[in-house]
Amino acid sequence: MTYDRLVCANCAAPVSEGRCPVCRANRERLQQEGFFAGLNPMALIALLAVLIAAVALLAHQTA
Ligand SMILES: [Zn+2]
Repeated sequence: MTYDRLVCANCAAPVSEGRCPVCRANRERLQQEGFFAGLNPMALIALLAVLIAAVALLAHQTA
């Protein structure tokens, strides 16, 4: 994430320094977005693996 380059509209300091509540709220939100952006591909792969396993199991049972 490039949020450490963002300047706060409230206190005009870098958001990454967290000098005011607006900075801290923005920093927290951006960090969570970064976390979920990293998590989602892994979650999708896991979901796909479960789906393939379920289909394979179903095909095996009906065959
Ligand atoms: Zn601020």
